[in-house]
Amino acid sequence: MVKYTVCRLCSACCPIEVKIEENRLVGAERLSFIPPHKRLVCPKLKASTEIVYSKSRLLKPLIRKNRNEEFREASWEDALSFAAEKLQKIKDFNGAKAVAWLRGMAADWGAPWDYANRLMSAFGSPNAIGNGSVCHVAREMAHTYTYGAMTVPMAKDSKCIVVWGKNDKNTAPAMAEAIIFAKERGAKLIVVDPVRTFFAKQADIWLQIRPGYDGLLAMSMLHEIIKQGLYDEAFIESYCIGFDELCGVALDDRYSPEKVSKTLWIDAKLIRESARIYASTKPACIIDGNGLDMQLEVFQATRAVAILRAVTGNIDIPGGDFMPQPVPLKNIQLKELLPSDVEPITASYPLFSKFHPTWGLHAQSCLIDAILDEKPYPIKAVIVQSGNPAITMTESNRVASALERLEFLVVVDLFRNRTSEFAHVILPATTCFEKTQLNRASMRNSLVVLQNQVIPWVGESRPDWKIVFDLAHYLGLGQYFPWKDVEEAIDEQLEPSGLSVEKLRKHPQGLYASALTYEKHRTDGFPTPSGKVELFSERLEAAGYDPVPYKSGFPEDPISFSELKDQYPIIGISGERRNCYTHTQFFQIPSLRKLDPEPAIEIHPADADKLGIETGKEVLVSTPKGEVKMKTRISDVVPQGVIRIPWGWGEVNPMWNVNNLTDDGVRNPITSTPSNRSFYCKIEALQKELS
Ligand code: SF4
Repeated sequence: MVKYTVCRLCSACCPIEVKIEENRLVGAERLSFIPPHKRLVCPKLKASTEIVYSKSRLLKPLIRKNRNEEFREASWEDALSFAAEKLQKIKDFNGAKAVAWLRGMAADWGAPWDYANRLMSAFGSPNAIGNGSVCHVAREMAHTYTYGAMTVPMAKDSKCIVVWGKNDKNTAPAMAEAIIFAKERGAKLIVVDPVRTFFAKQADIWLQIRPGYDGLLAMSMLHEIIKQGLYDEAFIESYCIGFDELCGVALDDRYSPEKVSKTLWIDAKLIRESARIYASTKPACIIDGNGLDMQLEVFQATRAVAILRAVTGNIDIPGGDFMPQPVPLKNIQLKELLPSDVEPITASYPLFSKFHPTWGLHAQSCLIDAILDEKPYPIKAVIVQSGNPAITMTESNRVASALERLEFLVVVDLFRNRTSEFAHVILPATTCFEKTQLNRASMRNSLVVLQNQVIPWVGESRPDWKIVFDLAHYLGLGQYFPWKDVEEAIDEQLEPSGLSVEKLRKHPQGLYASALTYEKHRTDGFPTPSGKVELFSERLEAAGYDPVPYKSGFPEDPISFSELKDQYPIIGISGERRNCYTHTQFFQIPSLRKLDPEPAIEIHPADADKLGIETGKEVLVSTPKGEVKMKTRISDVVPQGVIRIPWGWGEVNPMWNVNNLTDDGVRNPITSTPSNRSFYCKIEALQKELS
């Protein structure tokens, strides 16, 4: 039997067709606008049956009273009543705010976020924390402060695509197919990345930028566009404020291509050419990604990129960057139940904590501060859902100390992981194929696609929604979860849209809540305080930040340990997100591991030669925070002076954890983002050759 649903084995949220026999998943394929023979193959989806029926999957709840004990299998009733009793005790003794919920970006997100937030509101804690300070939420805030929402690149119909710090071939196949489609029809492609990615190889211009300097490049492109008069005068005149102030900053000679070329490691001619092509080819879009998000400069850098879209008039036109048309949903997070006098632990980043009405709080480093330093107050218990902070959060040694210090830790996941080694309760979650939920990925564009349960729950695993609903009942908060099943909950959320689970099931490819409309600003303006694109932001100025990006100059070397670069002379960058894994997940799946059996640090041939490093030999990489030992691979995918350390492998071997090297001590003042994409480090050859 063929059924339709949405794959959530990673955050790409691809619509898929699955084959089911006798209630078992036997195969799955991505759906796409391009013909099947041209579609990109996703190894994880190909391995979906192996993932769903993996012997390593958690299939029963596990509990233990303290960390000296082994885990024992427990019934759901025992596990949830034990968890509820411990959480209630911590609440009685320390207040509800001492309990936090932490969401990661493993194989899930979206609607369950609303349920977890709702439970925390009912419980009385404002601390529902997400990982967005190192993911797209920090970028989303920069877009929002510029034109009111995060735009969506309409690459398929674009004539010029700029891919900035993103590797869609590995992480977003639908977008990668759109780029390929547009390129086959003559679209220009400009790629900004220190690494020679799949699209960098095919680009008309590849700007192999020095890691961490994206904001400076964006300012230099603005300089060139404004100086050459390549901006969209009519759009700026009608829909933007602050162009004069922008000119006052961007036209400063310090941002001229010639002045920044040496710092950026990019020829001035290429900067000018890229600016000219982007500004004079319409429609054009910019696909920005995690390569920008995980840098200290994330906020102003992505704001400068957002301003590039605006001054060229590429916002909300077909083939440009679409202004979202969100599906009207009922907000079910019950934040009104929270005591008004209790601040969240993220309160020291007030703009970031408050910029969005329904997101959770995303300054995730604050969670570690609250556990270790008890600032602004102690967190004693955490529920981790779809995350593995022991490996994925910055500065792993500090994170491990925090997890160790917790009085109580619950982990909800598909597999045991390094974080669950610190847990008291491990709850087995289902895969995406075993649960129904709203798929938030497409909903910025008004399209609602239902992620549909297509097979029964495997073993005693339970979907996230059920775990949250049931935990609420054990905490005595059942009245806040009155729905008999998730379909009822989704229907309540969908009410303002006029859609329902029943209607969506009849339309497996999804339904539009409203027809897509471009150039909404002509009638509605922009959803900013001024109703215009804010090239100059009064809100940022009032809060003490540069109202135009880099008005006070681009910071001196904004990557970790720059003050120690005499001792740590090479730049380390965290590795690509391989398409066979999702962050730290799926290393135990044999067919996926076969595709990528062992990690290796990539080093440029000239650096390897200078340091006596050979392919296949083990090296030691160190920073003031810790060490990584791994084999090397000599490769010119990275520029000279940069090494690339694979991401996520700390799950397999603690000495392979790139976050042993990163620093959470210095953060972006607005979004709390640390520099865990790039840092100065030292690399040395070790004598022992690995077999
Ligand atoms: S890219 Fe991600 S969401 Fe899409 S099919 Fe592969 S694993 Fe699933």
